[in-house]
Amino acid sequence: MVQCRLCRHPRSALLLDSLRTGQTDTFALRRCRNCGFVTLDPLPSGEMLRRYYDDDYWLPTDPTTDGIMARFLMLRMAPVLREIKRLVPAGGRILDWGAGDGRLVHWLNADGFDAVGIDPYSRSADNDAVIAAAIENAPFPGGSFDAVLAFHLIEHLPDPVEAVRAAVRLLKPGGVLFAEVPNLESLEFRIFRSRWQPLEIPYHLNHFTPDTMIRLMTDAGADRIVHMSFFSHRVSPSTPVLSMAPGLAPKEIRRRHRRYPLPLSFGYLICQLVAYPMAAAAAVFRKGAVLRVAAKTRSGPSR
Ligand SMILES: [Zn+2]
Repeated sequence: MVQCRLCRHPRSALLLDSLRTGQTDTFALRRCRNCGFVTLDPLPSGEMLRRYYDDDYWLPTDPTTDGIMARFLMLRMAPVLREIKRLVPAGGRILDWGAGDGRLVHWLNADGFDAVGIDPYSRSADNDAVIAAAIENAPFPGGSFDAVLAFHLIEHLPDPVEAVRAAVRLLKPGGVLFAEVPNLESLEFRIFRSRWQPLEIPYHLNHFTPDTMIRLMTDAGADRIVHMSFFSHRVSPSTPVLSMAPGLAPKEIRRRHRRYPLPLSFGYLICQLVAYPMAAAAAVFRKGAVLRVAAKTRSGPSR
């Protein structure tokens, strides 16, 4: 019996089992019979997660391709930056939750925002740009931010309800929580099931549909949904390719060759271009591989 971490309901149904990792462990996915939230089962211990993250999660930097890849990434992130500009007042204060190396913080500041990052596993050399802390221990008073961004972060959290509440407390009245997660209600998950790359066993502990994501945000106090989309130029074209050919993942290739050879990088890019139309078409029908939701807190004194 697995209690739902979203609604606390005691009963769940098996969705997928015998999910193997790159190491020797096996996991299942279970769906709450009340709210539909899907969890990894069992939840890996902190020690086990450290073993996985230490082993292969972070990519070592590769100076031969990183310059090109960074520019390309920026191009693919441009539509999301436009959405942020539409949702957040010019010059607004933004917290990038799960900021990693601080790249997005840097771009937002270059665009005139007052941005800072927070990430307990910060890999940023700039300690002023990315604070190494969990959101529950963020060194900011409540109501500090116009927006909190959570891109591909909430699926990793052992207690998403408490963490999202902590994030929403940091928002000003009328502030926006803007999150992107893999979409379990996608066409791709239907096709690939246990081979769907964004399952990322055992790194992803939570798997969301539009309904469960809205419930998470609403329960935390960000209850006015102002944006929902199902496509990311950065993620969507790669997930069907990596579900079919996991060996093409930059992570895999760097582990085997110590670097990402340009011809392979080019081949991976071509595959993604072929996958683009399918990924874009699925998104039109709200069945894309990503789910991006923006929700605002109440602006009135009743909050
Ligand atoms: Zn539930």
